Amino acid sequence: MRNQSRSPGKTVRAPAAPFLRLAERLDDPRQVPSLPQILALLVTAREAELLLALPGTLAQLRARVDAEARELRAVLRKARRVGLVLAVAGPNGKTRYAFPDVYPDSILCDDRNNALGPRFRELWRRWTREHRARRKFDLGPDARPGFRVLPAVLPPEGRRAVVPPVDARAIVRAARRRVLQQCACRFRGGTCGLPTDTCLVFDHLADEAIARGFGREVSVREALAVLDRTSRAGLVHTSSADYLTPARSGTEFICSCCPCCCELLESHFASGRKLALVAHYRAVVDLDRCTGCGACLARCHFGALRCRRGAARVDERLCAGCGLCLAACPSKALSLRQVPVRYEARRVHRHVINPRP
Ligand code: SF4
Ligand code: SF4
Ligand code: SF4
Repeated sequence: MRNQSRSPGKTVRAPAAPFLRLAERLDDPRQVPSLPQILALLVTAREAELLLALPGTLAQLRARVDAEARELRAVLRKARRVGLVLAVAGPNGKTRYAFPDVYPDSILCDDRNNALGPRFRELWRRWTREHRARRKFDLGPDARPGFRVLPAVLPPEGRRAVVPPVDARAIVRAARRRVLQQCACRFRGGTCGLPTDTCLVFDHLADEAIARGFGREVSVREALAVLDRTSRAGLVHTSSADYLTPARSGTEFICSCCPCCCELLESHFASGRKLALVAHYRAVVDLDRCTGCGACLARCHFGALRCRRGAARVDERLCAGCGLCLAACPSKALSLRQVPVRYEARRVHRHVINPRP
C-alpha cells in the first residue's frame, strides 16, 4: 500500500516501472534502453517516483506527491548529488528543482558514480554506444548550429573592452566563479588518451558543481592555464551559441574538444558540418611567408588545409576558425580573419528542461 495515494488531491503513480518513467522524463529510453537500468542503480523505486513530480519548488513538489518535506528534501539532495537533479534559483528567490537536459554530463562523468561498481561501468559503456548510434544532435533539416568555436588565439582586432563572445580568455576573466570538471565525452568513452580535466564551467553552473561536490574551483590563472594546456594538446575550444539568441548572452562553459571522442564535433561532422558550430573566424595564409612545409595540415581537425603549388590553402567552407593551425606554423604565415555570423542559433543544448507530461 505504500505507493498508493493516501491524501485527496495528491498523486503517486502506480510503481509499475518508475525507472522507465523517470528515463522518459530525461530521454527516449527506446533509443537508450540502458538508461532505466542506470537510474535503478542511482535511486530507489520510491525515490524515482517522487522525482517524477519535478520540476518545481519544494512546496510545489509536495503538493504533487504523498511525502513529507523531510523525505522529499532527502531525495532531492541525493538526486542532486548523483547528477539527476539541478537546483536553480528562481526569480522569487525560491529554489526550483529540475532535471538537467545534458543528464549524461552530470550522471555519467561523475567518477563518484563509478564507485557503484562493474555493473554501472558496463551500463555506462552501453549507454555511450546507444547514444552515439542515434546522433543525438541530428535535429533534422531546420537544425542550426548550437555551439560556437572560441579561437585559441584572437587577432588584435578581436579584442574589445566588452567581452566578445569568442574571446575565451576574456570570458574566463569576466566570470564570477570558475570550476574545472571532467570532459564528459572523453571520460565516458574516450579512446584518444587526451586529458579529461579540461571542461570549465562558470557562474551558476560552477555554483551547481560546487554544491554537488563535483569538479574543483579554480582561479583565473589556473583557468587560463587550462586553455593554454588544452590548446597545446590540439583541443578545440567551444561553447554554446545561445548568446546569439535575444534572451541570452552569458557563457556557461568552455569545452575543449577532440574530433575522436567529442559528441559535439561528431555531430558537426555527421550533420555535414551544418549543425554544431558557429565559426567567427577563418584562417588566412600569407603566401609570402608560407614555405609549403605542411606542418599545419596535421593540426587541423576540420580538413580545411591543403598544400597546393608549394603553399598551404584554406578551404573556407570547412575552416571552423579554431586557430590551432597558427601555433603549428614555424613561419608565422597563418592568421585569423573575422567573418560575419549570419544566422541565429537555435538552442539545442539547454541545461534545464522539463515540460511536465
Ligand atoms: S563537448 Fe568536447 S570538451 Fe565537452 S565534454 Fe564533450 S569532448 Fe569534452
Ligand atoms: S584551418 Fe583548420 S586549424 Fe586552422 S583555423 Fe581553420 S579549422 Fe582551425
Ligand atoms: S605550417 Fe605555415 S609554412 Fe608550413 S605549410 Fe602551413 S602555413 Fe605554410
